[in-house]
Amino acid sequence: MTTASNTVRTRTVLPVRAARWAMWTFVLVNVVIVETLFLNAGSGKNDVLTVAKFFGVHAALLLLFQLLLVARLPWLDRRIGMDRLTVWHRWLGFTLLWTILTHATLVVLGYATLDDTSMAKTFVALSGVPASLLGMWAAATVLVVAVTSTRSLRRRLRYEVWHGLHLLLYVALGLSFVHQLLETTTFTSSAFATAYWWALWLLAFGALLTGRVVMPLWRNAYHRFTVAAVVPESDTVVSVYVTGRHLDKLPARAGQFCIWRFPGHNHWWSANPFSLSAAPGTQGLRLTAKAVGSTSAGLRNIPTGTRAFVEGPYGAFTSLHRTRPGTLLIAGGVGITPVRAMLEEQPTGDVVVLYRVRSEADAVLLNEVRHLLALHGGRLHLLTGRTRDNATPPFAPDNLHRLVPDITERDVYVCGPPAMTSTVLTTLRDLHVPTQQIHAEKFSLT
Ligand SMILES: Cc1cc2nc3c(=O)[nH]c(=O)nc-3n(C[C@H](O)[C@H](O)[C@H](O)COP(=O)(O)OP(=O)(O)OC[C@H]3O[C@@H](n4cnc5c(N)ncnc54)[C@H](O)[C@@H]3O)c2cc1C
Repeated sequence: MTTASNTVRTRTVLPVRAARWAMWTFVLVNVVIVETLFLNAGSGKNDVLTVAKFFGVHAALLLLFQLLLVARLPWLDRRIGMDRLTVWHRWLGFTLLWTILTHATLVVLGYATLDDTSMAKTFVALSGVPASLLGMWAAATVLVVAVTSTRSLRRRLRYEVWHGLHLLLYVALGLSFVHQLLETTTFTSSAFATAYWWALWLLAFGALLTGRVVMPLWRNAYHRFTVAAVVPESDTVVSVYVTGRHLDKLPARAGQFCIWRFPGHNHWWSANPFSLSAAPGTQGLRLTAKAVGSTSAGLRNIPTGTRAFVEGPYGAFTSLHRTRPGTLLIAGGVGITPVRAMLEEQPTGDVVVLYRVRSEADAVLLNEVRHLLALHGGRLHLLTGRTRDNATPPFAPDNLHRLVPDITERDVYVCGPPAMTSTVLTTLRDLHVPTQQIHAEKFSLT
């Protein structure tokens, strides 16, 4: 029998490292090909237009990388995690914006220099050219989405409004694709250049379509997920049990999350991420949600038999990333959900759980956690109280080291509210826990 600890001992390349290597190799190979094609295609009508072309070609490449980052490719997602991919997507998005704006400004400047006229007049003249006009609309759309994604504006917008605006990027994508078809000289400079460019677009569109549309539709048609039971865990927390067909074929792991919709009960555009709060199995899936807004609060009213539309499973917060036989699981509040699921997968008794809650009454799934620890071995520290009332904050380095003296020898999984998770991560760094042994899930993707 293969146990997780055997897997831990025999693995030579960490999954996350393999995925990063694969990604960087892909990026580097394509950058080299694009630079070579750019150099071979010759210069523009003047120096400014040559530089403008350089930025245009790279904006197109960044756009393709963006598509691959948001395609939710399972191999990448399980190794890197959607939260980290989302952070990269954000950075790449702003880089893309500046690249597009530089390209557009240089195009106008380049033609203004060529025609010996003002930039304003050139801008008006270019807007009469269909290919340029498409590029301008694409740039304007990206600008609007980027502005609404700045932290200050994003905080003020409802998630659904912001997400709806974000979907405008698909319009920008279509416009910029046609703009490139009409304008590019780099990718029409040879048969190889054209074949390469089309292959890259097909790969990116194919990945996006498969990951975001085909796979979720196929999975839901195949598994036919249905609500089997709704069980209140407390006044504010509820568990939803979902059953379906062929669940043994669903590639889900304890610690992962899905994006859930309950059509007919919630708005069709409400799709919320919730972790699996029990290890997935042939019996079904379970989510446990705390009421924070209308969707999560309304879960307790979902009638049994309601169809569920489930996207996923997603996330890298799993035992795939274990490097050590010993584990420390740290949960804050409802962050216990993936931790509770992972407890079912623990092969040895060498597990410690730190569960941070205001009071024991707030500790959801506590009996299940205790039961699983009693079954598999392991110990639980329930850390109660308010942080400001404690002389020593529970996640201060001294305290954490006192509770788990061999912490640097363990894999540490942390899941909770963003503020708590950040505090714990800082402490783990202070205690010199090796980076590859730290795994976190922040219940926040944006
Ligand atoms: C990976 C992950 C796993 C999670 N697991 C759990 C869990 O097991 N149990 C639990 O109680 N909570 C979990 N959450 C938090 C949960 O998703 C939110 O509390 C829930 O979506 C709130 O929705 P609402 O409409 O009720 O509230 P709202 O008031 O509409 O939203 C509250 C907050 O949730 C955010 N939010 C809403 N919809 C989404 C979405 N589709 N994607 C990202 N953020 C969104 C909003 O930005 C807002 O900050 C998880 C979050 C993430 C990112």
